[in-house]
Amino acid sequence: MTSKSKPWLQCSRCGHIVSEVMPSISCPKCGGFLIPKISGFAQPISKEGVWGWSPLLFSGDITTKISLGEGWTPIIKASRIARSANVGKLFLKVESRNPTGTFIDRGSATLVSAAKHMRARMVVSPSMGDMGVSLSSYCRRAGIKCKVFVPENALPIKVAKTLILADDVVLTLNYEEALNKASKYVGQEGVMVALPTNPYLIDGYRTLAYELLHELPALKGSETTIIVPVGNGALLTAMWSALKDLGINARFIGVKGCVKSPTIVDIYVESPAFKDFIDEIISESGGELVNVCEEEALEASLQLSHLEGFMTGPVGASPIAALNTLNLNPKQNVLAIVSGDAPPDAVAVYSMLSITGYRAGTSPSSLGKTKAAILEVLSLKGPMHPYAIWKTLSEERGFKISLRAVYQHVDELHSLGYVSQVHAPSKRGRKLYSLTSKALDLLKH
Ligand SMILES: [Zn+2]
Repeated sequence: MTSKSKPWLQCSRCGHIVSEVMPSISCPKCGGFLIPKISGFAQPISKEGVWGWSPLLFSGDITTKISLGEGWTPIIKASRIARSANVGKLFLKVESRNPTGTFIDRGSATLVSAAKHMRARMVVSPSMGDMGVSLSSYCRRAGIKCKVFVPENALPIKVAKTLILADDVVLTLNYEEALNKASKYVGQEGVMVALPTNPYLIDGYRTLAYELLHELPALKGSETTIIVPVGNGALLTAMWSALKDLGINARFIGVKGCVKSPTIVDIYVESPAFKDFIDEIISESGGELVNVCEEEALEASLQLSHLEGFMTGPVGASPIAALNTLNLNPKQNVLAIVSGDAPPDAVAVYSMLSITGYRAGTSPSSLGKTKAAILEVLSLKGPMHPYAIWKTLSEERGFKISLRAVYQHVDELHSLGYVSQVHAPSKRGRKLYSLTSKALDLLKH
């Protein structure tokens, strides 16, 4: 099959067709979702980010092509996990290797380029964490302002990255509020709003499906199951629609974070933007929607580390956690999309370590000199802010240590369960650290 005509956008509700890049991000006739469409496959013209797939992109012929080298991520064969899960072949598509660590970079490249092409002055985005980091990186690259709404309970490291990259960051109570506030900018002149349903995002996400087809041509003939993490369902919808345009029927398993798990909150959305699509894709393809909780995801992280030498955190490993609960045909080939968390951050690594049964010895000194001293200071002086701990260590105990290193040690003690955060209302809600019962037990020895 060769590409016959230029890709277009089609309304999923009324079928209206949009053939030129334009500012509206939903159907101008009925407000329905606009989904990119193609009429046949074409080989890539280069490996220059998503733009190698220009002939298959709706935004492919615009001249302002912004890229940070996204896409072309490795595919790793995971034979030992395939054996333990009793399936045919298992491939991991490592989307963590994108410039900011997630598949979102593919969509940021196309969306920000389209915004630049339309001379937008600002991109506005709701974020659960990763979206804000990715979009604001690409906006910096393009020289467009970026405003991000992100929940205050998002992972602190992601909020911190967004604060560095975006021009304006607004903290909200939850993701729904971030979405509502960002939606208010829809229709404003010169503003491109990166709602999860924005067709220029979906356009870039679809390159993941094109790459799979290019690198694993066997996908075409065989029975394949694709396991995709689901937040808003945008990636799932993009991959499904791209493969469907090319006449390929894969079975889709969606992975959803279980609400109680803070470390996998990135793949939990209460009411996904693409909810109707998710339901349709799952039922039409004979797939399933699997809920994954923290413990199972961490077990899968360990399994990937131990069996394949591939370390990723709980979000990245969530498709493997889902695979472990499924009863698939042993001849089935499986493709798992690993996005985010590779390499895992310190909190994820310590959580993984704690479920291996590893215990940090029976005396405070087994934690190392600095951590032992921090615990001792807290036991003598009560709850303290890391800054006060640093002052005590350097002024009273002769430690030559940076404030940053003290923060790191306190963070690690927190991950290991030796200190917990307490709020000090008198000091503008500043967070203090106090010893946990686990630390008190350790200090008794
Ligand atoms: Zn319509």
